[in-house]
Amino acid sequence: MARTAVLGRLRRLPWVTATARDVVDETARARTITLDVEGWTRHRPGQHVDVRLTAEDGYQAQRSYSIASGPEEDGVKLTIDRIDDGEVSPYLAGALQPGDVF
Ligand SMILES: Cc1cc2nc3c(=O)[nH]c(=O)nc-3n(C[C@H](O)[C@H](O)[C@H](O)COP(=O)(O)OP(=O)(O)OC[C@H]3O[C@@H](n4cnc5c(N)ncnc54)[C@H](O)[C@@H]3O)c2cc1C
Repeated sequence: MARTAVLGRLRRLPWVTATARDVVDETARARTITLDVEGWTRHRPGQHVDVRLTAEDGYQAQRSYSIASGPEEDGVKLTIDRIDDGEVSPYLAGALQPGDVF
């Protein structure tokens, strides 16, 4: 593949806002969340998203999550295993409520 094509595919996309629409507990430790993502266009199977959370004091934490929904589905679904001493997964797979924005 030509170098310019590779660089084009690796281009970093801008951060966008996601709003939690729905949460479904799959097991005691795993939860699927459905997100409405600003300006979302169809994804390809196998893609992941980078989720960035910002605390009130400005501290940020970023983690990757595989997209669990199909490209034809409405909303972006992520299934998250809660790591009890983790920074991000206890929020996404625990505290997060429908209507939360990140
Ligand atoms: C491309 C990609 C896709 C991913 N997709 C998903 C996904 O669909 N669902 C999902 O739940 N996670 C997924 N992950 C993992 C996710 O990005 C986070 O690493 C995970 O949620 C833990 O983040 P945390 O902030 O809660 O824990 P951290 O604060 O990063 O870690 C806390 C402690 O837990 C340990 N730890 C971290 N991850 C795990 C783990 N999986 N099992 C056991 N111990 C761990 C760390 O070593 C550390 O000691 C993916 C990662 C990548 C790179």
